[in-house]
Amino acid sequence: MKEQRVILTDWRPDRSSHLPVYQQIIQYISENIRTGIWGLGYLLPTQRDMAASFQVNRSTIRTVMEELASYGIVESNQKAGTRIVGNTWSLMLSSKNYWTDTVTEGSFHSNQLMIQTINRMEFEEGILRLGTGEPDPSLFPKEMWGKAITKLQRLDSLGYLEPLGMLALRCAIADYAVQKGIHCTPQQILITSGSLQALQLISVSLLGKDSVVYTEEPSYLNSLNVIQSAGISLTSISMDPEGILFHKIPAVEKRSRILYTIPANQNPTGITMSKARRKQLYEYCALHQIPIIEDGAYEELYYESQPLPIKAMDHSDLVLSLGTASKTLSPGLRIGWVIAQEAVVARLGDVKMQMDYGASSVSQLIFLEFLQSGMYQEHCSFLRKEMCERRDHAVITMRNVLGDLVEFDIPGGGFYLWVRVKAAIPMDKLFEEALKAGVLLNPGDIYTKDSTRRLRISYAYLKKEEFTKAVKMLGKCIDSLLRK
Ligand code: PMP
Repeated sequence: MKEQRVILTDWRPDRSSHLPVYQQIIQYISENIRTGIWGLGYLLPTQRDMAASFQVNRSTIRTVMEELASYGIVESNQKAGTRIVGNTWSLMLSSKNYWTDTVTEGSFHSNQLMIQTINRMEFEEGILRLGTGEPDPSLFPKEMWGKAITKLQRLDSLGYLEPLGMLALRCAIADYAVQKGIHCTPQQILITSGSLQALQLISVSLLGKDSVVYTEEPSYLNSLNVIQSAGISLTSISMDPEGILFHKIPAVEKRSRILYTIPANQNPTGITMSKARRKQLYEYCALHQIPIIEDGAYEELYYESQPLPIKAMDHSDLVLSLGTASKTLSPGLRIGWVIAQEAVVARLGDVKMQMDYGASSVSQLIFLEFLQSGMYQEHCSFLRKEMCERRDHAVITMRNVLGDLVEFDIPGGGFYLWVRVKAAIPMDKLFEEALKAGVLLNPGDIYTKDSTRRLRISYAYLKKEEFTKAVKMLGKCIDSLLRK
């Protein structure tokens, strides 16, 4: 298991405040612990790093640590460092209330600390988001959007929709799916609020507590707690350049099981599963009766040829195919869908109705307009071209700026470079250094249970010149850590 470490952001004590600096630091640390941002057992940075980050003397940090230790908040050990221990901190807090101890009692697990930090920092002004998995906002199709919205002005009502989502939209998605070789009826389609909701619906509706989900190692799924929060275990299966090594999935297993895969332009590795591997994987799963969740989030974003979805080979209703408008049109639309056997879709739709009464009707209408008018297809084709250019620019920039410091394979689609930093630099340190320089990274450890020396670099979000600037800063951060 990886060591959970506290991540320092660019917080600094306020020198103009009447409160002494050391007390401000105590408050800052206590608050992070109280709100659960820094969890019990987490390792604090070294005193030297804290002093540098807060821009104070080491002696100030020593005083802070002594005080926190006297409250029973932290414990120091010469070898292991200083750790957050126990929860006696609540005693010293005048703001202690009912929620202080109970706020995390629900079954859903807290997000990884690193991801919480990323989610917060993404909205800091001026930050360069070198890991963000969404298209550059400047690529948003404003004109098309305007046309779609105009149609919406003629709405007479905006009521709840049927359990599977708007019929016209499901018909349009069925037509769209045929172009990818998937034949289905509107009754086999459920509209969801993004594909993340589809994953949650599957976890709580189809899988028992003692079941197991297999997934690629590394995988986007490891960055979520949606499976584990439903009491289901997650087992990682390694990959090679052709995709998941499916024969490593045990042929026999007492528990019920399902496989989750992102065969096209995988998040985070960018790997696209070969046609042969898809076929072998499907046959293996059919033989051993292992259903497959095929997450097609990046399916549209191929640069050369469109891969055949596994769902298109599915003659025994084994595959649940997930789609989303998030990586192409807009994540804020919150529109996704599941294509699966009718009974599966009906079950998921029934649970969804109990959760939220359906995905936003406005979003469904807009997406319908995009599909029916052909604007969606046109925009996807524009995006493919744009992303391919950005990929080329990213590869050249990384090679020119970082040279031998890193290595990576060139993806044939999607948003990401799965970059290995050759030197033995801890990725959390690099994350902190880069953040201080105004660059937000996605360390590879988010996507795997093991420690990596990887970064998921996205070339989708930043404009080319911003990307170059961010990579130059990253280079400086690597250099400075190498010198330490
Ligand atoms: N699947 C994959 C592979 C993703 O990368 C993401 C977003 N990062 C999602 C699903 C979730 O997308 P959404 O819920 O916005 O459709």
